[in-house]
Amino acid sequence: MSLFGKKKCCACGENIGAFYRKKLPCGFICEKCSHQISPLVKYTKFTDVDRLKEHLEYRKESSELLEKFQITRIIGEKERIVIDDKNQLVLFATEGDKWTKRQPDVIHFDQITGFDEYIEVIDSGDYYESSEGIENEVPKGYVSCNFSFILTIDSPWFSVMPIQINRDELITDDINSAEYRKYKEMLNEVKETFRPYYRSARKIS
Ligand SMILES: [Zn+2]
Repeated sequence: MSLFGKKKCCACGENIGAFYRKKLPCGFICEKCSHQISPLVKYTKFTDVDRLKEHLEYRKESSELLEKFQITRIIGEKERIVIDDKNQLVLFATEGDKWTKRQPDVIHFDQITGFDEYIEVIDSGDYYESSEGIENEVPKGYVSCNFSFILTIDSPWFSVMPIQINRDELITDDINSAEYRKYKEMLNEVKETFRPYYRSARKIS
């Protein structure tokens, strides 16, 4: 292929515009196809054209699920898990996300096979990084807390989804405070929602 020759998309076979230069390990890809790749999957994964085609087929099914998605619950402040209880579907989103370029993946409840929660507690005198990326010292008598969970997902395309549910770290002198309990309840809500689907080999406390 010459420098000025027409490039063809390795997924759909269409000619690629002269100024579009996205390349995957398995070949060039057109703009339309590249926007269909999941935001959760790295481009470097596609070393094989068949695997890429399989992925785009999966994404087509996922976008059909997105069309019928009815939001019933949103858990999380900045990073969010969005739930459709009626159709038993889930997607992951960030606050303000408009999904203009790449749509989120939609998964079924029964693909969620495990749950782990993490409450990070930093003691007074130690440093924490604020949501603006600034290093601060935790004041005397207080702790800094972040609340996260990781879902294990049964999918050929990704296997874990980590979400931090609080936007800003919670600085508190009482881990029984209403705010602390609010985040703890959000973690519990996620854990209980998918409990029927956790694989029995794993023990969920
Ligand atoms: Zn294409």
